[in-house]
Amino acid sequence: MTTYHARPQPLAAVNSYKPTEKPLNFKETPAQSIYGSNVFSDTVMKARLPKPVYKALQKTIKKGEKLDPGVADVVASAMKDWAIEKGATHYAHVFYPLTGITAEKHDSFLTPDGAGGAVTEFTGSQLIQGEPDASSFPSGGIRATFEARGYTAWDVTSPAYILENANGTTLVIPTAFVSWTGEALDKKTPVLRSMQVLAKQATRVLKLFGHEDPGYIYATAGPEQEYFLIDRNFLFARPDLTLAGRTLFGAPSPKGQEFEDQYFGVIPERVLATMLEVERELYKLGVPVKTRHNEVAPSQYEIAPIYENANVATDHQQLVMITIKRVAEKYGLAALLHEKPFAGINGSGKHLNWSLGGDKVGNLLEPGDNPHDNAQFLVFTAAVIRAVHKYSGLLRVAIASAGNDHRLGANEAPPAILSIFLGDLLTDLFSQLEKGKLKGSKKKGTLTVGVDTLPPLPKDAGDRNRTSPFAFTGNKFEFRAVSSNQSIAGPLVVLNTIVAESLDYVATELEKATKGDPKKLNDAVQDLLQSIAKEHKAIIFNGNGYSEEWHKEAAKRGLPNYKNTVEALPHLLDKENVELLAKYGVLTERETHSRYEIYTERYCKEVNTESLLALNIAKTFILPAAYRYQGELASTAAAIKAAGVAADVSSLKAMVTLVGELESKIVDLEHAIGHKASGAIIEHAKHFRDSVIPAMLAVRVVADQLEAIIPDDLWPLPTYREMLFIR
Ligand code: ADP
Ligand code: MG
Repeated sequence: MTTYHARPQPLAAVNSYKPTEKPLNFKETPAQSIYGSNVFSDTVMKARLPKPVYKALQKTIKKGEKLDPGVADVVASAMKDWAIEKGATHYAHVFYPLTGITAEKHDSFLTPDGAGGAVTEFTGSQLIQGEPDASSFPSGGIRATFEARGYTAWDVTSPAYILENANGTTLVIPTAFVSWTGEALDKKTPVLRSMQVLAKQATRVLKLFGHEDPGYIYATAGPEQEYFLIDRNFLFARPDLTLAGRTLFGAPSPKGQEFEDQYFGVIPERVLATMLEVERELYKLGVPVKTRHNEVAPSQYEIAPIYENANVATDHQQLVMITIKRVAEKYGLAALLHEKPFAGINGSGKHLNWSLGGDKVGNLLEPGDNPHDNAQFLVFTAAVIRAVHKYSGLLRVAIASAGNDHRLGANEAPPAILSIFLGDLLTDLFSQLEKGKLKGSKKKGTLTVGVDTLPPLPKDAGDRNRTSPFAFTGNKFEFRAVSSNQSIAGPLVVLNTIVAESLDYVATELEKATKGDPKKLNDAVQDLLQSIAKEHKAIIFNGNGYSEEWHKEAAKRGLPNYKNTVEALPHLLDKENVELLAKYGVLTERETHSRYEIYTERYCKEVNTESLLALNIAKTFILPAAYRYQGELASTAAAIKAAGVAADVSSLKAMVTLVGELESKIVDLEHAIGHKASGAIIEHAKHFRDSVIPAMLAVRVVADQLEAIIPDDLWPLPTYREMLFIR
């Protein structure tokens, strides 16, 4: 009898695991001494750049002013010297194509000097612009391959850094990636555009509140990353994990997450070692990671940073994902960032904490202690509420992916319906506003926003509600439906833009009502808040987002419920969304269309890969194991019979039935894969959703039943029990 050997191997490896690297010398080199050491930071710039150049750069970085290209040569030369001192031989423009990954092209500093040697060279134009051969990145029709030019353009506002490798280092320069016609081929360009428009509109509102020069206003982001770590040997023994990042088969482990003994539990030794190194690597890059803990599911963890300027946070978040994966390998682990690596236990999300503010005015979603702050706070909060209500469909589109379909609405993550959790106190305030003037609920008298003694709002203006996709959490909003594997750029772009549109509306209304007379502001604010509270209260929901009643209630309130990616993506092209993005200069109509094409195609490709994998695993791993056991049962029965004893063949019969079912489900899956839809890309996506995914699931149902009865030594795939609990 042949047995399968791939499974015992990981187990042996796990048992005999020893770190390949020497332990970190954390005492000799304390973490604070390495923080930011690989960043071309403000301090480095100040020390190395001539004063006028430094000042010019700061204007762009801190005030969002236009970059003076004249400074590039000087900056490039200083950057090169700094990088070479840090051991760099190459520089790389890093960019973020629409695949959601991080891309980079490396070039050497070395140029032959014509006399048999080489000099190092890095010019201003090399710093400012690069030209990777970009024909293989998706452009959704913006750029045909015959016009494959794509340019990377230096993003001054995101600091350059040194990427270390045991064999050398590279100077990395964050860039935007655009086509030769100037259209955005990446995720960064729209982030920068949306930050700019948000700043402009927020500034208008702040001026009305008497801030003559509020300084540069920017969105802030603090993304909390959830992920799984499992032994790396398991990854290679499972083609589905290797190629799709999630298990397509697997019976539940006898123990799952039901004991609730994982959340915030003691972090396993090897995992903690990994986390410590991840954090040190990120410290060097100036990524302000702060929090680590166990998550709800077995072998699931979380890492969260201190919030920063949203553009920088977006780049840093990409570094967080890359660093977790890279460092995990060193410790014999595999990091799984997929939204749903294992069925039946929690998947992973990425809570995107978002606010806006500036160095002079502070956090604009901070309630503050005095009534005047409160009025301003209420206006900004109302603008967000209005934005999320008006464009909840667009926000839903921004988090749509094949992976997130497994999570949203599955009673472990928020529902696919966008709503806002405000907490009791703020909800009460807004419902008072709706009726007219604010009454200090526990105090006497009628209050006018901003003048009388509006009670100071407590920092924790309400309890937590894990079922809400979008929650006010004290001084920021937390967008919880964002998925673990995605770049935060998309959700950020939508948030920044819809809030900019709302602030535009707010500023316009207040400007109209006050006509330049600050004395009229209070009444104008009062009226505006009342009308927003009235018109947009439907988006506020503090109850249980998982409940059936909410789904009914949400429908009554007219809130969109796009249940899956295929339903969501076409709404990107809804007239109001296309117009919004175009009006504020965030995405042209063509750019929006290209994103629709690319994301729909991506959905198809992902499901297609999964379906081919499922077919392959079912045919070449599971069915053969089932045949072997069936054969074993049959020969045993025959032998018993031959010995003259009546054999109980019920196990054999059950096995034959299951094998027959598996065979027929495999045929169905083959048929679903083979039958191609015709017409527009969305028709293909529908076919994948409606025919291929159900056929895959049907194969899985039988396979998982087989896993429960086939002998352990015949079963070819690492099991949930092993992957989740051997660490
Ligand atoms: P939680 O209770 O969800 O853990 P925390 O206060 O610890 O809340 O913050 C969670 C995340 O929110 C952190 O990454 C933090 O940096 C981020 N955050 C806090 N304030 C802001 C803000 N003003 N803007 C954006 N993100 C913020
Ligand atoms: Mg949180």
